[in-house]
Amino acid sequence: MKIIKSVNQLQKELKKLKKQGKSIGFTPTMGALHNGHLQLVKRMLKENDVGVVSVFVNPTQFNDAKDLKKYPRTLKKDSELLKKAKLDILFAPSEKEVYPKGKKNTLSIDLNGLDTRMEGKFRPGHFEGVCQVVHRLLDIVTPDRLYMGQKDFQQFTIIQQMINNLKLNVKLVVCDIIREKNGLARSSRNERLTKKQRDEAQIINKTLLWLKRNRNKYSVGELKSRALKKLEIPGFKPEYVSIVNGKTLKNIRKMSSHSYVVACVAVWSGEIRLIDNIILKNK
Ligand code: AMP
Repeated sequence: MKIIKSVNQLQKELKKLKKQGKSIGFTPTMGALHNGHLQLVKRMLKENDVGVVSVFVNPTQFNDAKDLKKYPRTLKKDSELLKKAKLDILFAPSEKEVYPKGKKNTLSIDLNGLDTRMEGKFRPGHFEGVCQVVHRLLDIVTPDRLYMGQKDFQQFTIIQQMINNLKLNVKLVVCDIIREKNGLARSSRNERLTKKQRDEAQIINKTLLWLKRNRNKYSVGELKSRALKKLEIPGFKPEYVSIVNGKTLKNIRKMSSHSYVVACVAVWSGEIRLIDNIILKNK
């Protein structure tokens, strides 16, 4: 596995590979890798001749300076995991490499309101930063396929919209949510939970599964209020439970009027914010 830190060197390397007709897969991450990330890497390596993973904690997508400061950075361990997974290229750039002209965002994309709901409402500027960094990384790597997780449902929906809007020549591949044994969605932020919090956080997945089981039993309003109550256990504070159309991300009123419906939640466990989702129906 090659570890590359400069854009120049990465592009030189990729140019060589593309000349040989090799297909390139790309998985952007912020590091502190776990099985969720590794699943994306595995699939990427299966479907492409060459796999590239970036590890870059993007400052422009953090709306909370404390969260950015505390975000785990474990590059040595990450590179060992990626080497074991037989990755071809690990791209670990500095901020200067990614944003040589400064962090100010010059990209303007009409996201059709997708970025104003749910995460967008509670994390102002977050998706602007996500689009900025993914756009920049795609520009550097120019992969054939881009790998992202369903764990961040709103994120991949927005990136797909960006790809469509800007007519970017890349195929987005979305991978399933990988969970811990107790059902908690794997996340780099789980490392910051105490053992007790991590155990209790299984309530999130349990509530999502309850929503799916009961999607036709209650009205959408009733489903949301019952789910919120379930999540209000001591030490936990739900920020939102949204039941939305999976394409527009708009709140729905009636389950039967939509064919693709997703429930998305954000919950605070102490100081840690956790997000998760489940597809309630898709046809
Ligand atoms: P992050 O490092 O958190 O920015 O995540 C990098 C990529 O991994 C994103 O596309 C995430 O959606 C994906 N990802 C993170 N956690 C999981 C998980 N538990 N299951 C599947 N994909 C995940």
